[in-house]
Amino acid sequence: MTTQAQAAICYGSEKPFSIEDIRLDDPRDDEVLVRIVACGVCHTDMAVRDQHIPVPLPAILGHEGAGVVEKVGSAVTHVKPGDRVIMSFDSCGHCPSCDIHKPTYCYNFFPYNWIGTRADGSPTAYQGGTPLNANFFGQSSFATYAIAHASNTARVPDSAAHLSMETLAPLGCGLMTGAGAVLRSMAVRKGLPIAVFGTGAVGLGAIMAAKIAGANPIIAVDIHDSRLALAKELGATHTINDKSQNAVDEIRALCPQGLGYAFDTTGINKIIEQAFSLLAPLGIVGIVGASAPGDMLTFDESNFMGGGRRVMGILGGDSDIHGFLPELIEHHMAGRFPHDKLIKTYPFDAINEAFHAGESGEVVKPVLLMPS
Ligand SMILES: [Zn+2]
Ligand SMILES: [Zn+2]
Repeated sequence: MTTQAQAAICYGSEKPFSIEDIRLDDPRDDEVLVRIVACGVCHTDMAVRDQHIPVPLPAILGHEGAGVVEKVGSAVTHVKPGDRVIMSFDSCGHCPSCDIHKPTYCYNFFPYNWIGTRADGSPTAYQGGTPLNANFFGQSSFATYAIAHASNTARVPDSAAHLSMETLAPLGCGLMTGAGAVLRSMAVRKGLPIAVFGTGAVGLGAIMAAKIAGANPIIAVDIHDSRLALAKELGATHTINDKSQNAVDEIRALCPQGLGYAFDTTGINKIIEQAFSLLAPLGIVGIVGASAPGDMLTFDESNFMGGGRRVMGILGGDSDIHGFLPELIEHHMAGRFPHDKLIKTYPFDAINEAFHAGESGEVVKPVLLMPS
């Protein structure tokens, strides 16, 4: 028995999203049918719409879904119908990265998240009998229902029963990436300085986490004063507007011994290279911003080797969703990760408005609410 649902179909950058009737496959043994309640809008959705990431279109996007389990396959044991869940990226579970619980670096990341079908090529969604590209990040949550997998579905702990789905949904991608980069990938040490370049959802997630880690100072760099004000509210000790100030000079003056950590969310080569030049010995520059394909970075070799400095590519903040998402929820409930300040909700049928607000920078984290 299949499931009738409504989904926002992405036809590319030329056309707005359109909400249409679809049909979902039945969940297989290791899959979960989720009634979506809320779904965050992320820059990766925009990158796919604009085809900077070659997911085949038309497609159902959405990868920060949260909802209620409707049905589970026979091999799924960690969730049951009625449980509240958050979904994240999917992974294969049996490659050298998955073996050491680093699923964000899954050797099979592409087929498990971005080919428009299950990794074996079978479709999860149909429209009038024709297969439709879905299974985006193992979910495709811009819809009223989604087929997800045991591997990318995290159960919301009972202790968080009072938290709304719109608060929980966006934890599964950008915020997890920023927080994980600080707390896991770079393992920021107490008392060392960090500079965060770019204060969107990922950068602000990193700033909240840097405060948790006890980094000092915590320097936020952006070109929008409103974002910098939010960064300060969330834990930045210093803010620099790189339009009116010279970030390199300002950071040198604040941290004469150099930065312990620089975290780049901009993907702009010049900023990454400057950030590297500001590192103290053993300093790390963590990179999550996607540069244009073919872009090359240049570093001074003696400075790189001499001080044991590191350049670290980071995906998903090295998060293992079954471990890290509950940890973030704990931080949120204790008031240490107030990410709800970034959220603005939109009804599902205002999806195009929500995208516009996210792109213009007016809203850090738009979250769609599905009709009940
Ligand atoms: Zn995302
Ligand atoms: Zn894997």
